[in-house]
Amino acid sequence: MTIVAEPSKKIVCWSCGGDNDADTQFCANCGKLQPYTPTDYFAFFGLPRRFQLDTAALEKQFYRLSRKFHPDLYARASAEEQRWSLEKSSVLNDAWRTLRDPLARTEYMLGLAGIRLEVQSRDASDRAVENGTAKQQVVPPDLLEEVFELNMQLEEMRMAKASGSDDPETRGSLEAARQNFDAQLKASEQDLHRLWSEWDAAAEADDGSTQQAAQQRMVDLLNRRSYIRNLMRDVEAALKS
Ligand SMILES: [Zn+2]
Repeated sequence: MTIVAEPSKKIVCWSCGGDNDADTQFCANCGKLQPYTPTDYFAFFGLPRRFQLDTAALEKQFYRLSRKFHPDLYARASAEEQRWSLEKSSVLNDAWRTLRDPLARTEYMLGLAGIRLEVQSRDASDRAVENGTAKQQVVPPDLLEEVFELNMQLEEMRMAKASGSDDPETRGSLEAARQNFDAQLKASEQDLHRLWSEWDAAAEADDGSTQQAAQQRMVDLLNRRSYIRNLMRDVEAALKS
């Protein structure tokens, strides 16, 4: 796999004066821990920025670095080295949690491309906190009819519950809707994997416009997923008796 060269700066080892790449964690010459420099999670792990990742290799690297950054190893080191080991341990944990999770990694990659996803929470207060400005959730056009129908069924269910009865027919429809949404989520995962490989291949080929098109489709896909998940939550709440 070719690794697209990102602009890399050099740093000089604080201990031996040797030259190192800016992302180096330990001096190539003397092995001393280097200062923490803010960097993206891929660079932190020494990985190319790709949607598809060798998670087994990532895990191995995570455990290796966890041991090497462990603050106990720096108990007798300088105050700076102690601080760097703490900073790096903390970034390592965040990076690991983000990169190992396929959806978190996707959102993170899109974030690196300057794309912020719509916050899809239905709770207005959550949304205000996360997004600054309340944004109306947009119904994906192909779901409009389904959502309209679903809202009527949810309302019928609420009315039935309020009057202390059950409505087996509506319950059946809601159960079918839940299964349908579940199937749509599973299908969208496969679509996402296809978009990942499209983007990664375009990155290898330095084809920016294909990358951008794939990114946009990922954004639409993730927004759609998030919309469906909210619908499912409503359906599941209504089905609980
Ligand atoms: Zn050194």
